[in-house]
Amino acid sequence: MYDKPLPIVDPDTAPYWDAAREHRLLIKRCADCGRCHFYPRELCPHCHSDAVAWHEARGTGSIYSFTIARRGAGPAFQADAPYVVAVVQLDEGPRMMTNIVGCPPDDVRIGQRVTVAYEDVTPEISLPKFRLAEGA
Ligand SMILES: [Zn+2]
Repeated sequence: MYDKPLPIVDPDTAPYWDAAREHRLLIKRCADCGRCHFYPRELCPHCHSDAVAWHEARGTGSIYSFTIARRGAGPAFQADAPYVVAVVQLDEGPRMMTNIVGCPPDDVRIGQRVTVAYEDVTPEISLPKFRLAEGA
């Protein structure tokens, strides 16, 4: 059983979570200024246009910042410690908070290239996490 907090899916975020279940990463892109943003908003945070639409990200980026949690953030996370909480800068520009998985936490460095890796935590929810890219 998955006992960590789950995202609350509402009509605004359902396309994001539907895509995540298919292991596709959606971000919002503005038709007026061409820039992408995350988390998804109804207005572009760069130019305030409402001409924003879902855009499939490549799922690649680099580690902007990170920390190693050596104690779990609550009982459900205790068995995972130590784990990496990171801010990944996507190649499209936006940054997202995530975990770096699949390597010892001490191997993680700022600037390393990463690729999205989904964790299917329930039949409805897959969480985008990141792994170090080949050769990173
Ligand atoms: Zn814009």
